[in-house]
Amino acid sequence: MGAAHLAPDDSAGLQKLMPDTLFAPKWSRHTDEMRGLWLLLALVAAAKAEKVFTGDQVIRVNAQSEEQIQLLQTLETQQDWELDFWLHPVSTELPVDIRVPRFSLGFMTEFLRVHSIPHSVLINNLQELLDEEKAEMEVNQRKERGTKSFNFGAYHPLESIYSWMDTLVAEHPNLITKQEIGKSYENRPMYVLKFSTGGYNRPAIWIDTGIHSREWVSQATGVWTANKIATDYGTDASLTSLLNTMDIYMLILANPDGYVYTHTNDRMWRKTRSHNPGSACRGVDPNRNWDAGFGGPGASKYPCSDAFHGPSPHSEIEVKNVVNLIRSHGNFKSFISVHAYSQLLMYPYGYSCGKVPDQPELDSVGRAAVQKLTSLYGTRYKVGSICNIIYQASGGSIDWAYDLGIKYSYAFELRDTGRYGFILPSNQIIPTASETWLALKHIMEYVRDHPY
Ligand SMILES: [Zn+2]
Repeated sequence: MGAAHLAPDDSAGLQKLMPDTLFAPKWSRHTDEMRGLWLLLALVAAAKAEKVFTGDQVIRVNAQSEEQIQLLQTLETQQDWELDFWLHPVSTELPVDIRVPRFSLGFMTEFLRVHSIPHSVLINNLQELLDEEKAEMEVNQRKERGTKSFNFGAYHPLESIYSWMDTLVAEHPNLITKQEIGKSYENRPMYVLKFSTGGYNRPAIWIDTGIHSREWVSQATGVWTANKIATDYGTDASLTSLLNTMDIYMLILANPDGYVYTHTNDRMWRKTRSHNPGSACRGVDPNRNWDAGFGGPGASKYPCSDAFHGPSPHSEIEVKNVVNLIRSHGNFKSFISVHAYSQLLMYPYGYSCGKVPDQPELDSVGRAAVQKLTSLYGTRYKVGSICNIIYQASGGSIDWAYDLGIKYSYAFELRDTGRYGFILPSNQIIPTASETWLALKHIMEYVRDHPY
């Protein structure tokens, strides 16, 4: 996306934020107050680096004709309005969700009016939601600080998730190991949790979350799920039998640089953070970067696009690290990648609209999994191939896994269907993870019972 909207330099505003006592001469004698002042200054400095979305709206557009779809597609390629497509224009059967920056609202509304394209407002002022989200996180972090407690119903920064991993491993040393599979572009370690009860290179299931960094309920679901596996092993007979013959690998922060960036600079960041030579725009869409129909439809060759496929397949170190692990292991039977949002369970292909040889089986397993998911709270999911259910998208991870020979390859799009989109309130984390678990478990049990 384009230039960040930075908060204006407002030192008068800063003074307004300060309690008067901080400016009284005596403050320097009180170290607590000094610490408070420095903390406040640091917060203000941090706030200045962060992109703000005041007045930005997320609108839902319901195209009525192929012609209207094409009109919306032309908007995707023009950068002046800095539109952020949360759901892309592909067919009249699917809504198109667009974050419209405040400065573009007038143009956008006029565009839709002139072309008689119906639309509604999903989020009236995005920043309000983000402020709430941040405030909740800060309250939670204050509660957790200095304790070993971890609230699974809250969003967490990378450091908290990484330190929780260590706690989990320490509590389940005979089941879980933490393996570093490499470093990210910005040199952060990438950790996989391996659940294994022994054996050599057993058939394995792969689960990754958060490859798109802004899809926060995905990473949070990964955390909850890892904890669920750890606590249910030994008490849940089915999961126990599964882990007695198979291993589970979980990569919870598949895009660590992007995830940190969503906390510090831009909550709407989706891509990696690599530099693109010759462009001021950073990052590659890590789910368009796999060697599966690379560079085909549904990926962009423009570095500023949120769907930029990158210079070459596996150019992103975060992708390459996973590719190396999966290839060298050689015994993965299932590859599951978790995204948000839209409530979909999808199987290959994305790069092609043709049917994969295992389509009937993947479809029926997917449908049974979704039936389990829906049984908990009635959350409705659609099942189908990526191309048929959303759009043709090349360079995706599950297509790569499938073509490598990993038959049971699936991608989830978790809650919701657009009311909150990427800003799903934290009180929906545990319900989302709990229902998703039923589907995940169904797929894993099926894989256990159908060796190949
Ligand atoms: Zn995604």
